Amino acid sequence: LEVIASVEPRIADATRQELTDQRGSLKLIASENYASPAVLLTMGTWLSDKYAEGTVGHRFYAGCQNVDTVEALAAEHARELFGAPYAYAQPHSGIDANLVAFWSILAHRVETPALAKLGAKNVNELTEEDWERLRHELGNQRLLGMSLDAGGHLTHGFRPNISGKMFHQQQYGTDPETGLLDYDAVAAKAREFKPLVLVAGYSAYPRRVNFAKMREIADEVGATLMVDMAHFAGLVAGKVFTGDEDPVPHAHITTTTTHKSLRGPRGGMVLAQEEYAADVDRGCPMVLGGPLSHVMAAKAVALAEARQPSFQTYAQQVADNAKSLAEGFLTRDATLVTGGTDNHIVLLDVSSFGLTGRQAESALLDAGVVTNRNSVPQDPNGAWYTSGIRLGTPALTTRGFGHDEFDAVADLIVQVLQNTQPGTTKDGKPSKASYALGDGVADKVKGAAADL
Ligand code: PLP
Repeated sequence: LEVIASVEPRIADATRQELTDQRGSLKLIASENYASPAVLLTMGTWLSDKYAEGTVGHRFYAGCQNVDTVEALAAEHARELFGAPYAYAQPHSGIDANLVAFWSILAHRVETPALAKLGAKNVNELTEEDWERLRHELGNQRLLGMSLDAGGHLTHGFRPNISGKMFHQQQYGTDPETGLLDYDAVAAKAREFKPLVLVAGYSAYPRRVNFAKMREIADEVGATLMVDMAHFAGLVAGKVFTGDEDPVPHAHITTTTTHKSLRGPRGGMVLAQEEYAADVDRGCPMVLGGPLSHVMAAKAVALAEARQPSFQTYAQQVADNAKSLAEGFLTRDATLVTGGTDNHIVLLDVSSFGLTGRQAESALLDAGVVTNRNSVPQDPNGAWYTSGIRLGTPALTTRGFGHDEFDAVADLIVQVLQNTQPGTTKDGKPSKASYALGDGVADKVKGAAADL
């Protein structure tokens, strides 16, 4: 930090303050974690200074031998860890990984057959007319994904995101009574809509998914099954999700981030069956520019860590802790979407406290509990104010929290919510944003949290 401070002290200060903030609060954001010093240090090197567009052994720049080593190692660790035939380590983030997957599927299912029919080797050989026709066909495909309010991600066909614009999209939800995925309803929708791509995976669904069933549905309607395991990749890596709950053997293409439960650097990755490998390998230049070589190196380090037996212990503890947190809420009469959890996420419905998600999130932050507001299924408060709080156990599990600490966390959260009053707007109407947290509650909770 001293070196940074000598150039731009405000950046050194903000970085130091971030450490203080992260250490001094309860980090319960389900998509966050604490990467190891080895992972963090690997990102801060001169590998950042090298351009390496292309793929291993086939670059558009000279002098990429060390980046080749780095990328090949990241891919090798990913293949070994997840039992995947092919791994692509270049995507800069989860959204990039999903874009690579979408365009690989479009290349495999639409572009390559069209080129073969026209007797062309690549798109540059097409006449203007054939090119226009192909572009139209590429832009006219269908995607079926989980809706945002049921727990899907905005890249799964949500209209404001590019995935909702590049595909004709429809969404499947969860059972209104149970909050659980209803595979028969997904199958019925898939039969009717006939998507090219069926997306499974989630950001805020507190349950496991049967990916074998999702593959059966995809096969029945001729769809490519893409699973976005960004959130739960750590539970797959740590062998908590196995058999039908392990997406990798069932999906044609699996995408992930590397920084959530997997505990690596910020980034993305794509795993694929052999059939799709060559298409994914064209991620750069199809969708991506030069890879972040320093981040690929950190991915390799994080994946090597995840291959250690201790990571399996960690992943199991993440899931056990989520159960402890859920039980802690249920014994204190709080309401959970789906009534509990069997992954790393707990989705607390805060409407029973008379609060919106926005009010709960803000009051909790005042008390040093960092969460994010989240829609619940059929949320009356919409995606901005919401009625839920999403909580995840990966980060605090890294800090060594176990059953007793998570029970105490549930208690502290309930104390904050019980002591928060919703505010009113200037004209006296109920506000969805303003709130008042009882005197002394924030300090009391912060003090108790510091002792955990
Ligand atoms: N996919 C899922 C399921 C996610 O939850 C997220 C991020 O929250 C992403 C993709 C996007 O990842 P990133 O923020 O790295 O682009």
